[in-house]
Amino acid sequence: TRMPEGDAAIRATDNDAALARLSAVRKGYLTDPFITAFVPRAHLEPPRPPLINIGTYVRSEALDELVNGWLSLSQQEGVQCQIVSLGAGSDTRFWRIATGPARDVLARYVEIDFPEITTKKAMAIRKSKDLSSVLGAPENVSLDRKANGGTTLYAPVYNLLAADLRTPPAESLVPVLGSGPEALLAPHLPTLLIFECVLVYMTPQASEAVVQWFTDYFSNNQSIPGGRGVLGSIVYEMFALGDQFGKVMVNNLKARNITLPGAEPYPTFDSLPSRFLRHGWDVAKALTLKDIRREYIDPSELARVSHLEMLDEIEELELVLAHYAITWGIKLPPGAELKARWQ
Ligand code: SAM
Repeated sequence: TRMPEGDAAIRATDNDAALARLSAVRKGYLTDPFITAFVPRAHLEPPRPPLINIGTYVRSEALDELVNGWLSLSQQEGVQCQIVSLGAGSDTRFWRIATGPARDVLARYVEIDFPEITTKKAMAIRKSKDLSSVLGAPENVSLDRKANGGTTLYAPVYNLLAADLRTPPAESLVPVLGSGPEALLAPHLPTLLIFECVLVYMTPQASEAVVQWFTDYFSNNQSIPGGRGVLGSIVYEMFALGDQFGKVMVNNLKARNITLPGAEPYPTFDSLPSRFLRHGWDVAKALTLKDIRREYIDPSELARVSHLEMLDEIEELELVLAHYAITWGIKLPPGAELKARWQ
C-alpha cells in the first residue's frame, strides 16, 4: 500500500492515536468504553508494544488529571465551563466526561479537526448508539454536510466542527464558532483549550495565531467580575527533537511522509511555558512524561500497570517519555483571581 502524503499523512496520525488508545484499553492500562466505536474492525487490530501502551497510559492519566482538575475548579467556583479540543481526532473525552460525575459542569464541548476527520467521526457517532445517545434527544442534534467542506455536528453540549487550524482564525475558527449572540462559546464562562498532539503539525506562527485568537476572545469580556471568563489550556507535544534521540523520532516520522513544522525551532523544556506566557497568560507550567510517570503517578497504580506486561527496557522507556511534555497555563480576566489552585 502507498503511504499517505501531505495532509493525509498528518490526518493518519489520528488513527495511530486511536489504535494506541484501543491497545492500552485492551491490555488493562486504561478504561474507555467508547474507543472501540471509533476504530473500524477494532477486533482485528493487533496490540501495540508495551512501551507504546505505557506511554499512552501516562499521557492519558496526566491529561485526565488536569482536565478533571479543571472541571472541579469550575464546580468549586460554582459556574459551568466550556472545553475546546483542537485537532481532537477520534478522542473520546467528551463521552467520558458526559457520562461521568462532572457531566453537569459542562456547558459546551467543541471539537475541531480537518473536514475529512469530522466526517469520519460524525459517521461513527451516527452508527453507534452508545455514542449518539449521550448527545441528547435526536431532534436536538443536527448534522450539516457542507460547513467548511466537512460534516459538522451540533448538539446541545457537544459540537463537532471542521476547520484547518493553519488558516487564519478569522477564516477557520470564526465561521464555525460564530460570533455575537450566535457564538457557540460564551465569553464569560471558564474555558479550557486542549491541544493534544496537534501543534507539532503546524508552524509556530499558526499555533500562536490560534492561541492569540482565543486569548483576545476571552479578554474582550472584562465587565464580568468574580473570576469568570478564565482561560485555561493544555498542550501535549513532542519536544527536544534536536537531540540525538529526537532526530531518530523525526526521521521515523519523515519515513511516513509526516513533517513537523511545529517542531522548528526545536523547543527546549524551559521554553515550553512561553507558549502561553508570550500571550500575557498569568501562569504556565510544564512536565515531561518521564517526570510525570516517576513523580506524579500513584505508586499503587504504577505497581498495577507494571504487572500488565513485561517491559525490560526502562531506560528506553524513559528516553522516549523524556521527549514528550505536557504544558498547561491560565489566563485570568483583569482583576480576577483564582479561588482555588489548578494543579
Ligand atoms: N488529539 C487527538 C488525540 O490526542 O488522541 C488526536 C491527535 S492526532 C496525533 C493529530 C490530530 O490533529 C489529527 O486528528 C489531525 O487531523 C489533527 N490536525 C493536524 N493538523 C491540523 C490542522 N491544521 N487543522 C485541524 N486539525 C489538524
